[in-house]
Amino acid sequence: MATAYLLGHPVAHSLSPAMHNAAFMALGLPHRYEARDVEPHRLGDVVDALRTDDVLGANITIPHKEAALRLVDELADEARRIGAVNTIVRRSSRLVGDNTDGYGFSRALAAAGIDVQGKDVMVLGAGGAARACVAALGAARIVVVAARDLDRAAALAAAAGDPVVPRPWATARRTSAGIDVLVNATPIGLHGEDLLADFSFEKLPRAVVDLVPTRTETPLVRRAREAQDVRVVDGLSMLLHQAARSFTLWTGREAPLAVMRAALPRPT
Ligand code: NDP
Repeated sequence: MATAYLLGHPVAHSLSPAMHNAAFMALGLPHRYEARDVEPHRLGDVVDALRTDDVLGANITIPHKEAALRLVDELADEARRIGAVNTIVRRSSRLVGDNTDGYGFSRALAAAGIDVQGKDVMVLGAGGAARACVAALGAARIVVVAARDLDRAAALAAAAGDPVVPRPWATARRTSAGIDVLVNATPIGLHGEDLLADFSFEKLPRAVVDLVPTRTETPLVRRAREAQDVRVVDGLSMLLHQAARSFTLWTGREAPLAVMRAALPRPT
């Protein structure tokens, strides 16, 4: 039996253990998935300790995805391209840092019939998740990254290149009209905060993507679903698809998507 860990802070309400443990059971694999709350100053030691035979690897979540880049022995191309690690795979005594968030994001968009080709996209937030989304948005006409820390948005845009432009949060709030696709890559909504209270959309964009994975709908998702003609992707859809890819990286087996979806608290 081997274990895959979720390392983050906080992790208590994570929906990932239910999905992965259901998948292990469905395929008759003697493994388990366990969430561990790890404060930033302990991350190095905890990652070091993954180099043992009874470990499959780990998922890395908020706020450790960028710090994890420096703690692994090698990086898969996707993690290097995105600049963040959300999955560690143990290969013998070496740890490989990978990233499945971009894949999860792309699959979730495709499942909702959202095509970003030639579209104007606004990404809110400039952390690890925003980096993964931006890396998957290369076909857009323009990708505005709005963050309250402009330096962080500028660094993301510089690493990504065209068509990504940084914008201060306050300016983005005033100029959000004309956007085709809105992506919330901040945690706003996790505790019921209404992101739209801050923005001035006369009409919602044609597509709204909220990464925040919650048991009940975030206010943004609820309002977008109530609106006419808005395609909506919620955080559970991306969570499902990124998890499926991590599962395959650890086990070499195709993930049982229907089983994992059924382990989530509501349909996606
Ligand atoms: P990070 O901490 O790396 O980045 C968070 C970003 O949000 C930062 O730019 C931060 O700004 C910004 N932010 C936080 N609070 C506010 C606020 N009140 N107002 C404006 N900006 C704010 O986190 P991640 O990128 O890893 O994760 C972001 C969200 O995406 C989380 O909710 C996470 O759960 C979700 N996520 C979901 C996934 C899924 O599969 N559904 C996968 C990955 C992430 P600042 O730098 O100023 O703090």
